[in-house]
Amino acid sequence: MDQDTMNTSTGQPERLRVAIVGAGPAGSALAILLARQGGDVTLFDDGRRPELLVGESLVPAVVPILRRLGLEEETASFSRVKPGVSFIWSPTDRLSVTFKRFAPAVFPYAYNIPRPHFDEALFTRAIAAGVRHVPVRARLQPASEQETGAELALAPETLAAAPAMEGRPPHLIVDATGRARHAARVLGIPARLGPRKDVAHFAHFEGFSWDDAPGQVLIARGEAGGWSWCIPLQERLSVGIVLGQEDAARLGRTPEERLERAIATDPWLSSIVGDGKRMTDVATYANYQLISERGYGCSWVMAGDAFGFIDPMLSPGVFLALRSAELLADGLAPWLRRGSAPSPAEMNSVLASYAATQNEMLSAWFELVAYLYDGRLATMVRVGRTWMAGPGPGFIKNTVEQYIARHVGVLASGAATTSRYSRGLLRFLSRHTLRGVDPAQLAIR
Ligand SMILES: Cc1cc2nc3c(=O)[nH]c(=O)nc-3n(C[C@H](O)[C@H](O)[C@H](O)COP(=O)(O)OP(=O)(O)OC[C@H]3O[C@@H](n4cnc5c(N)ncnc54)[C@H](O)[C@@H]3O)c2cc1C
Repeated sequence: MDQDTMNTSTGQPERLRVAIVGAGPAGSALAILLARQGGDVTLFDDGRRPELLVGESLVPAVVPILRRLGLEEETASFSRVKPGVSFIWSPTDRLSVTFKRFAPAVFPYAYNIPRPHFDEALFTRAIAAGVRHVPVRARLQPASEQETGAELALAPETLAAAPAMEGRPPHLIVDATGRARHAARVLGIPARLGPRKDVAHFAHFEGFSWDDAPGQVLIARGEAGGWSWCIPLQERLSVGIVLGQEDAARLGRTPEERLERAIATDPWLSSIVGDGKRMTDVATYANYQLISERGYGCSWVMAGDAFGFIDPMLSPGVFLALRSAELLADGLAPWLRRGSAPSPAEMNSVLASYAATQNEMLSAWFELVAYLYDGRLATMVRVGRTWMAGPGPGFIKNTVEQYIARHVGVLASGAATTSRYSRGLLRFLSRHTLRGVDPAQLAIR
C-alpha cells in the first residue's frame, strides 16, 4: 500500500477523504453516492440559492439516477411529470414526441422541476447520508507540489473552516462549482467553446393558457431569431427566450423589457402567456457552450457544468451533472468497498477514464444539438413526412419511420447519446435525405 493512503498515526489504511466544492446536482449527488459507500465527504457550499435556477426540464435518463439516489418520490411530490417534448419550427413544421413511444429503450417519462427545491432535496439527502457540510464559499489554489504532489489545494482559510478535516489535504478535490469553473480559473485551463454566443432570459408565470398535454415541454423557433421554451411546473409556467446577443439587444435594454417584448411580438408565445402574470424576476444566463480542455489532474477533478455544458435546447445539463457523479462514484467504488484510498497512480487512472467518458458524452450532445440549430433535423422530419404521404407500402414505411424515430429518441433522451450506431444513422440520413433540400430554411438564427 502506498504511503499516502496510510494514516501515519495509526498505520492503518485510510478511508477515502473527498472535498467537494459546490452543492448543485453534481456535487450533492456525488456526495451522497460516496458517503453511502463509506467515503469521508466534506461538501463546501454557502447554501445561497437564487429564486430561479435554470435546469428545470429533465431528460428521461435522469429518472433511473433519481431512483438510485432514492429521490424519485420526493422529486415527484414537487415537480410535474414531463411526458415528452414538442418542437415547433413553423406553424406547419411541428414534431411532438412522447417518451413512452420509445420505451423500453427510453425511460417513459421525465420531470419538470423547480430547481432550487430540487437542489435542496439533494443536499438534504447528502447530509442524511453522513456528508459533512461546510457553509462557506470555498477557495481553491494551486498546490505547492513539493509538499503534497497534488496540483490543486483548498486555500488555508477554506481548510480551516472545516475543522473535522484536521488540516489534512483530502485525497480528492472535486470542482462541482458549475459555471464558476473554479478549478479551471485557478489553474488557467482553457475551454473549447461552442459556436453559439446566446443569452437566455426567463421567468415564471401564472394565469397562462395551455392546450397541450399537461407537463409537455414546448420548444419553439422564434420569428425574430433564437428560440423559446415553455416548461410547465406545478401551478406555474417557466418561459424563456434564448437568442443571439444582437437579437436580444434589439428587443430591449433590460432582461424584463426583452422577455416582455418577445412575448408580446411572438404570436405563439403571446397565445400562451400573453394574458399571464409574471411571478418572479427575470433571470439571465449567457455564453454557456463550453467543454474544459482538461477535466482532471493529480488529486482533483471537475464534475457537472464545471467540466462542460452544451446547450439548453435538449435539456441535458442536470443529466450530465448527475451522470458525472455516478461515473466518479462508480470508478472509486472498489476502494470505498475496501475502506482505503487509491494510490495516486490508481486515482489518476480512475479520473482519466471518467474524464474520457464525460468528454465523449459532452461531444455527442454537441453534435446532436447542432442538428437542431442548423435546421437539419426539422428538414429531415419534413422530408420524412412527404415520403410517408407518398406512394409505397404503408407498413414498410411505418417500420422504417419507427426505426429511425427510436434511434433519434435514444440519442435525445440521454438513454444512449453516445451510441455509435444511432449517431452514424443520423449522419447517414442527413447526408442522404437532404440532397437538394436547404435546411437553412428551418435553421435557428
Ligand atoms: C439557459 C440555460 C437553460 C438550461 N436549461 C436546462 C434544462 O432545462 N434542463 C437541464 O437539465 N439543464 C439545463 N441547463 C443546465 C443546468 O442548469 C446545469 O447543467 C446544471 O445546473 C449543472 O449542475 P452542476 O451541479 O454542475 O452546477 P450548478 O447547478 O451550477 O451548481 C454549482 C453549485 O456550486 C456552488 N458554488 C459555486 N462556486 C462555489 C464555491 N467557490 N464554493 C462553494 N460553492 C460554490 C453554486 O452556488 C452552486 O450551488 C440550462 C442551462 C442554461 C444556461
